[in-house]
Amino acid sequence: MSNSIQECQRCGTCCRKGPPALHIQDKELYLSGVLDKMHLITLRKGEYVFDNIQNRIEQLPEEMIRLKTREGASPCLFLDESTNNCNIYSDRPAECRAMKCWDTEGIINTYAGYRLKRKDLISADSALWEIILEHENSCSVQDLQEWVQEFKNEEREEALTQLSGIIDTDLRIRNFLQERTGADTASMEFVLGRPLDKLLPGLGLRVEFTEGKYRFQKIGV
Ligand code: SF4
Repeated sequence: MSNSIQECQRCGTCCRKGPPALHIQDKELYLSGVLDKMHLITLRKGEYVFDNIQNRIEQLPEEMIRLKTREGASPCLFLDESTNNCNIYSDRPAECRAMKCWDTEGIINTYAGYRLKRKDLISADSALWEIILEHENSCSVQDLQEWVQEFKNEEREEALTQLSGIIDTDLRIRNFLQERTGADTASMEFVLGRPLDKLLPGLGLRVEFTEGKYRFQKIGV
């Protein structure tokens, strides 16, 4: 990296590569309302995600919360692409503050710090937390991955039944939450993470629901 740059040029390059994960220093941004559920996505333990600091895909050893991207694209939700301005610049998260493309020491240190989890933002006494726990117990990413692997090794009826069941349960809990709290789809990605059927293509399976049942098909290698 060239050392000729010594201050942020507001070129927007780092914001276009992807949004930051949230750290403990960012908790106040959520509590004060700068960040709302609809701005956040939970990436759950076991998910494969592109890590834009390490520039590689990694499997998460524990969950993390990240700002969302723009719909179907990689830039951060808060980047105004016409001006390269950050819409929450004075309240931007810790990783954004630490990011200096001419000197990576700050971002490496911040990145290594504790990342926020849902339990840091949602009360353990709340009904919402109970739903999250039920979802984690019955629809874990790890279980999904194991049944996908079973199905890919040998397309057995048992794997098909289990995969259909776990996807159905995920959907049922989301519908329940929506009915009970009026939570919109945008907030759901923070509360319960991405729907399990959306994780399947990354695991090499396509799913369709036709004639009253799920049909799975291997894709890729
Ligand atoms: S919060 Fe602002 S500074 Fe951080 S990545 Fe998004 S647009 Fe860029």
